[in-house]
Amino acid sequence: MNPIYQWRLAFVEARLEKLLTWCGTAAEEHATLGRITALTMEGMARAMAPDPATLPPCPVDECCPRCLGAGSRVYPSAVTWRGGMGGSVCTRDLCDRCWGSGDATAPWTDLRKLVAEEEQRVATRAVGLLAEMAGAKLTGMRGAVGAIADELERLAKGRKARPAWFTEACTSLARTLRRGIG
Ligand SMILES: [Zn+2]
Repeated sequence: MNPIYQWRLAFVEARLEKLLTWCGTAAEEHATLGRITALTMEGMARAMAPDPATLPPCPVDECCPRCLGAGSRVYPSAVTWRGGMGGSVCTRDLCDRCWGSGDATAPWTDLRKLVAEEEQRVATRAVGLLAEMAGAKLTGMRGAVGAIADELERLAKGRKARPAWFTEACTSLARTLRRGIG
């Protein structure tokens, strides 16, 4: 079992133990005094707080507030931490704050950042290749590539009848070209 789960389980069990003791005491008092004691939420929380000495040491410095130490969480759509378009099916995937470590102070590799870096690398390489094939260097071709991206965006907004996905293809290509020239 995940050690953080184990720790949280122990925490909940300790709280439950406290609650049961408190319920027993309250019932006894109620029976003895013959009256209902008004209890505030604060008083209840104090009564239920487990004694830290009874808990095993927490395996992380600070439990991740987003997944409560589980390392994974439920996303409202199937694309999870990746973002973008996707089916609206609740899906469990890696937590996008601690990236699976469960520790707020020591996150694992940020996959969203990794994917973005890879996309950037591919775009730079693709536009570099485009320049090479045209017999130029990317630095010298930056202005021309930017102008092509402008034209593609203009085409995407056009009213002329076009094949399916034409607008999306133009927009995506323009975005990749701009990314490639940095
Ligand atoms: Zn987390």
